[in-house]
Amino acid sequence: MGTLVEITVSQTDSHRAEIAMAAAFREVERIDLLMSHYREGSEVSQISRNAGIKETLVSPETMEVIERALYFSRLSRGAFDITIGPVFRLWNFREGKIPEKTSLQENLKKVAYRRIKVDRAKSSVYLESRGMELDLGAIAKGYAVDRACAVLRKEGLQNFLVNAGGDLKVSGAKGNGAPWTIGIRHPRLPSDLIAKLRPAQTAVATSGDYEKFFSLGGERYHHILTPSTGFPARECQSVTIMAPSAMDADALATSVFVLGPKKGFALLEKFPDTHTIIVDQRGSVLVSPNWPRGVLLSP
Ligand code: ADP
Ligand code: MG
Repeated sequence: MGTLVEITVSQTDSHRAEIAMAAAFREVERIDLLMSHYREGSEVSQISRNAGIKETLVSPETMEVIERALYFSRLSRGAFDITIGPVFRLWNFREGKIPEKTSLQENLKKVAYRRIKVDRAKSSVYLESRGMELDLGAIAKGYAVDRACAVLRKEGLQNFLVNAGGDLKVSGAKGNGAPWTIGIRHPRLPSDLIAKLRPAQTAVATSGDYEKFFSLGGERYHHILTPSTGFPARECQSVTIMAPSAMDADALATSVFVLGPKKGFALLEKFPDTHTIIVDQRGSVLVSPNWPRGVLLSP
């Protein structure tokens, strides 16, 4: 899925650690083969190729992630939309080019999560119009992290950290018994932190406008798009979500980023186990109330 996955474990039996980590990496690879839109043979690519033609039979895992994505689409009223593909593709972040107006208008018509038809009994997915494309980039990395952690636990490990490019999950403690500490990056000062987290057995995901971007005419153009306009979302610089599931944290971080602080915090009220740090457009740090004791620390 175009990211680096890092696994850190703390375990006195190094043989056991290596076996467990190898199994976890195989699991990540397996999910990448199913869900990456960068791979022609993935189920996700197959669904896109069959758009407007026929339904595609998929694995229970792909089904689960697509259904969860649709849940967040409905909840966010379309701020989160995995049919963003045709519009996302028009943005060239490497060369710093804004999409041409006519192609943007044309491809915006293909962004519509409501036109994803899921048949649970048949385990099939169908995109109703030709040219529609699926992009699980904002949720599947989180799912892969959850799966990797489940494998590590099944292999008997208790102390580990799995990080897929900023979507991460921890369990237990580090080797010396010290808690895992996660730095939350300052969106504008790469070597500074805005906060540190010390979560136990929870996932943390951050969506930021500094991952993939270019600047033009004093504006920053980045990779988290507002599906209704096809342009980068403007209300946040970064959104960090701590939640029990990495998949949910990943999808929520993107959803809240697009919605902005006001609507974002309102949506998050539905998730009592979830805690949030938003850096808004002006650089103010907004923190959700009721963090568990000792988890949120100043940098
Ligand atoms: P990161 O890739 O930095 O972890 P995100 O989890 O926010 O960040 O995912 C961004 C990716 O999700 C983009 O690269 C794109 O593939 C896709 N995407 C962009 N905008 C949206 C959106 N509004 N809804 C769903 N997916 C999106
Ligand atoms: Mg995300």
